[in-house]
Amino acid sequence: MKNYEELLEKYERLKEEFETYQNFAESTIQLMNEKNTKLEKKLDSLTNIVEVGKYINSNVSEDNLIPMINDMIIGILGVTYSSIYLLQPDGKLIVKATNVFDGNHNFLENDFFSELNNGKPFVVNSKEKLFEQDNRRADIHSVIGVPVYLRERFMGYIIVEHTLCNFFGHDHITFISGIANQIGIALENNFLYKKVMESSIKDPLLGIFNRKYFFNFVEDEVKNEPNKAFAIVMLDIDNFKKFNDNYGHQFGDEVLIQVAKVIKNNIGENDKVARYGGEEIVIYLHRVEGYDETYRRVDELREKLSLNIVQHGEIKKTVTASFGISFYPGDGNDVQNVVSVADAMMYEAKKRGKNRVISSKNSLLREG
Ligand code: GH3
Ligand code: MG
Ligand code: MG
Repeated sequence: MKNYEELLEKYERLKEEFETYQNFAESTIQLMNEKNTKLEKKLDSLTNIVEVGKYINSNVSEDNLIPMINDMIIGILGVTYSSIYLLQPDGKLIVKATNVFDGNHNFLENDFFSELNNGKPFVVNSKEKLFEQDNRRADIHSVIGVPVYLRERFMGYIIVEHTLCNFFGHDHITFISGIANQIGIALENNFLYKKVMESSIKDPLLGIFNRKYFFNFVEDEVKNEPNKAFAIVMLDIDNFKKFNDNYGHQFGDEVLIQVAKVIKNNIGENDKVARYGGEEIVIYLHRVEGYDETYRRVDELREKLSLNIVQHGEIKKTVTASFGISFYPGDGNDVQNVVSVADAMMYEAKKRGKNRVISSKNSLLREG
C-alpha cells in the first residue's frame, strides 16, 4: 500500500515537471516563431530597399526617377496615396510625384503640416478624416511624413497616406526612411551627372557651349533637316589684347564673360552660342527670314554690345566686336565651309575698321 502511494506521488511530481517543460517548450517555440516572422518582415523590407536602391542607381540620369520611386512606394507598401515633395531653389516645397487625383494636395495649407518646415519625420492619426470632403479623394485617417536629406541639407518630404487609422507602424517609417536616403543619393548622383555632362559641352569661363558641341549640334541639324536655312555668325572682340595688357588678364576675362552674357541675352531660344577660340564666339541662328533681316538682327546685337559697360573693380570700359555672317545652304553644304565663310566675313569687318557686321550676302553684293 505504501509502495502504491509512493509511486503515485512520484507520478504526480513527474507529470507536473513534464507539464512545466511542455509549457516552457511551447512558449519558446511560439516566441521563436514570432521572432522569425519579425525577422522575415525586416528582411523583406531590407530586400525592397536594396531593390529600390539598385533601381535608383541604374536610372541615375532620368528625370522621371522621382515619379518611379513614388510608384514603387505605393506598390510595395500598399498605401492609399504617396507623394514626394522636393525643395526648389526658391525655398518652396513642390510636389514632384503623387498619385492623388490631380496633384493638388492642399497639404501645405493644412495646419498640422506646418511641421513640414522643420524637416522632421511626423505621424498623424485621426478617427476623424484628415481632409475636407472631396469625392475624388479617399477619406484619409493616417499620414506619415519622412524627410529627405542630402548629407545635412533638407531636400524634401515623402508623405504617405492611408484610409485606416493607425495603419502605419515602425516598419513603415524604417522602410520609407530607407527610400528617403536613396532619393537623397539619387539627387546627388543626378546633380553630379548633369554637372559632368555640362562640363563636357560647355566652356567653364563663359558658360556657353564649346566648339566641339557646337559643330556636333549644327551637323546634326543639317543631317536632320538638310533643306532648312540657317545663319552662322562669327565674332571677334576688337583690340582685346589691349584690355589684357592695360588692365590685367582678370579684366580681360570679365570682358569675355560680359560679351558672352550680352549675346546670350539677345539671341533666340533655339539659337546656339559657343566659344570658338580665345576671344572668338560663334552663333547659330536658327531662324533666317532673309539676308537683310539677319543682318539687321546681328547689327542690333553689335550695337547692344558696344553700349554695354564692362565693370571690374574700379575699371569701367566699353567693348566692341567685329561680326561676320554666312548662310546655309547658300555658302556651302558643309558646316565647316559655312563657318569658314563667316570667319572670312569677320576678318573683312576687321579690315574695314572693326565694330561692324559683314554678311556674305552684302559682301558679295558690294564686291559684285
Ligand atoms: P583684333 O581687334 O584684331 O581682334 O585685335 P586683338 O587685340 O583682339 O587681337 P587678337 O584677337 O589676336 O587677341 C587675342 C588675345 O586674346 C590673345 C590672348 O592672349 C587673349 N585671350 C585668349 N583667351 C583669353 C582668355 O580666356 N582670357 C583672357 N583674359 N585673354 C584671352
Ligand atoms: Mg580680337
Ligand atoms: Mg582673335
